[in-house]
Amino acid sequence: MFREISLYTNGLDEGQRVQLARALDHFHDAQQTLRLVEKGHKDLPLVAGCVDVGAAFQNFEGWSPSVVITGSPLSDNWFTHTESGCGLMTLADWEVAFLAEPQGLPVAAPDANILTSISLVTLMVLGQLGDWDVLHEKSIGCLFDLCIQKPERALKMRAAYVCSSCTAKLAMNGVSSVEIDAINAALDRVRHLVLGRRPQTTLPAVLDDEKFLNDARLPEGMRIPPQLLEACRTRSLSVLVGSGLSLQSDVRVKYEAPLQWSKLPFWSEVPSRMAESLNRYRGKTENPRITDSLDEFLADLDFFRESLGDALYYPRAILDIFTPHIVNAGLANRLLFRLPLRSLLTTNYDFVLQCAAPPGTPVYTWQEARPAREFLVGGVGRRSVVKIHGCASRSNTVVLTRVEYERLAQQQEYLSLVRSVFEHHTVLFVGFGLNDPRDLDHVLRQARLAGAAEGEKFALLPEQRCSEVRDKFPQIQVIPYSEHDQISKILATLVAAS
Ligand SMILES: [Zn+2]
Repeated sequence: MFREISLYTNGLDEGQRVQLARALDHFHDAQQTLRLVEKGHKDLPLVAGCVDVGAAFQNFEGWSPSVVITGSPLSDNWFTHTESGCGLMTLADWEVAFLAEPQGLPVAAPDANILTSISLVTLMVLGQLGDWDVLHEKSIGCLFDLCIQKPERALKMRAAYVCSSCTAKLAMNGVSSVEIDAINAALDRVRHLVLGRRPQTTLPAVLDDEKFLNDARLPEGMRIPPQLLEACRTRSLSVLVGSGLSLQSDVRVKYEAPLQWSKLPFWSEVPSRMAESLNRYRGKTENPRITDSLDEFLADLDFFRESLGDALYYPRAILDIFTPHIVNAGLANRLLFRLPLRSLLTTNYDFVLQCAAPPGTPVYTWQEARPAREFLVGGVGRRSVVKIHGCASRSNTVVLTRVEYERLAQQQEYLSLVRSVFEHHTVLFVGFGLNDPRDLDHVLRQARLAGAAEGEKFALLPEQRCSEVRDKFPQIQVIPYSEHDQISKILATLVAAS
């Protein structure tokens, strides 16, 4: 079921029409909730070649909900206005948003700019909000930043998210979480476009996993702890997914030229991929050193982050490394969404789980820890994905280097999210420690830091890793497997139990 919003156009030239058509395609491909339906041309009052904003809004009475898109500049030099369920936006003068960009105009800059305005105006129209009800005067990267300094608009496009206070305001004004999620899906495209990347427009083919679920048997001698089966039956299980699940043999990804990679990286491969990025973007050659400790390893990543430039090439490198197009999300990832989980948390930055999830699954990062926690409590029947170490398409949320880990450890909302999951749910770790225990280590340390009570915890682990993990984390019950494809069989058994 779509929610329809009327769309009128005014004074668009040929080029603007083409740009708008592309942006609308992105908006409609990104989500299946909101539809802007073209209703034809609308006359607008002009003053000195600009749309007279005040007079225009007097004409809009009784049109709600609708959006009018003009090719002329607005009389007060703004990009958008909304009032009482009607929105007005201009496609003119968008280049000023990119004046401060060191690289000049990204290829898809006009599309990103229009998609940003459409997302903003649509949300405000749905919430019947006026400009001054929500817009932030100080830029924080939220879609609702006013951006008095026009070049700040490029920053807003790169961060492109709806902050938790705006999300709360929208909810209070009757905008549903499904509608907010739809706009978040559109913003995901904005972030790709503004960095000159083509967002993934087609989802992996839907595969029928029923036969596997029916036929799957546990390997000889393997036993699932009864408390874990019970947690499935009573729907009190949460799963924490690590990088191993994005590296399963049936997960297929495709990097675009000039990137030569064919798989997502192991944790240990990230520094060398950063080094490749540094060479590609800045022509510098820096080989990653062999590190002895986690601290050294994370400090090295900080070095690459700084060398690439925090706001310059680091976001591009993160996007390059962690957002290949997902061709097949893999059986194990898909089976996770067949479990009646309380919550699904992941430390992965990539899009594999999102591609395995049913359409419309809300996705949060640690930056939206508060709405994520509210969703865990209230969102019965719908499952979200919480990317606790951030999402690659929003590099300012990614927690990968030492500085980023330190910053995360200060986030109270995030800590209380982790604490509430660890205290109240039975937790199963999947895909952690397949090649390196550090990611698992971090999550457990953070949970302890958050003062979480030691609830029941289980981990699916390769046999050779079990004794080390038992020694290090006696509170975790390990379930050993000998082949990676056994993970899917174990998950199938859990699905059957529930
Ligand atoms: Zn905001």
